[in-house]
Amino acid sequence: MSKRIPLSPVVPCDMSDSKNDPNLTRLRENLQKTGQTIAEAATRSGRDSTAVTLVAVTKYLTTSQTALLPEAGTLALGESRPQQLWKKGAEIVAPNLQWHLIGHLQRNKIKPTLPLVSLIHSVDSLRLLEELNRQAALQKRTVPYLLEVNISADSNKHGFRSKEIETVLDKVDDYPWLSLRGFMAMASREGGRTRAEADFKKTKQLFDDLKKKHPQGANLTELSMGMSSDYDLAIEQGATIVRVGSALYEGVF
Ligand SMILES: *Cc1c(COP(=O)(O)O)cnc(C)c1O
Repeated sequence: MSKRIPLSPVVPCDMSDSKNDPNLTRLRENLQKTGQTIAEAATRSGRDSTAVTLVAVTKYLTTSQTALLPEAGTLALGESRPQQLWKKGAEIVAPNLQWHLIGHLQRNKIKPTLPLVSLIHSVDSLRLLEELNRQAALQKRTVPYLLEVNISADSNKHGFRSKEIETVLDKVDDYPWLSLRGFMAMASREGGRTRAEADFKKTKQLFDDLKKKHPQGANLTELSMGMSSDYDLAIEQGATIVRVGSALYEGVF
């Protein structure tokens, strides 16, 4: 059984119909450049470029700006705030568009979020898992998710500490409406690319280790890590999903 979520191409393919919209043209160029960087980093890590999914992060954009993304050829969009996801998810209609929730989800926001999301990257507590499962059962929906790992053990960050992850995995079978796909992590804010690379390496080691030794290991297929300033490094270390925002919008919005 393949657990991989359906992917959208990282490189937009149809460059012909830009409707003379200069923003759309520049956005397509940025997407192409990003797709190229992704492909090269994937190659360096011994993988095919299709092994990595680009999630275009929309938190800086208005709804009408966000609507240009599927037009430019990118179909996996990521929002960090649930209310923004509800708004944009309701207003933007495009075939095969998928939404990813990448930011903290409060339990009272679960209900309207579930019908809209393809993947929740940011599951960061057992109480959230519990309530997600309860709401998913009520809606009769299987909900794919990632466990957020606070790899830098930063007390200001959401996510499970790496030493807690194993006990969380022990409980995954208690939530039959939820479908575990892997981990999400963010690099430390300080320390630049060197520190980011070390954080990604640690996350990948934890991922590989549990993949091997834990009964849930077979469900660990996705590793969401890397943002504008470090997604190339994240891919070299084994990311399967990168969440890129600002780099896509340079010179556009
Ligand atoms: C904003 C955000 C991103 C994208 O950040 P950029 O640096 O703009 O690429 C990725 N992941 C999460 C969780 C975010 O909140």
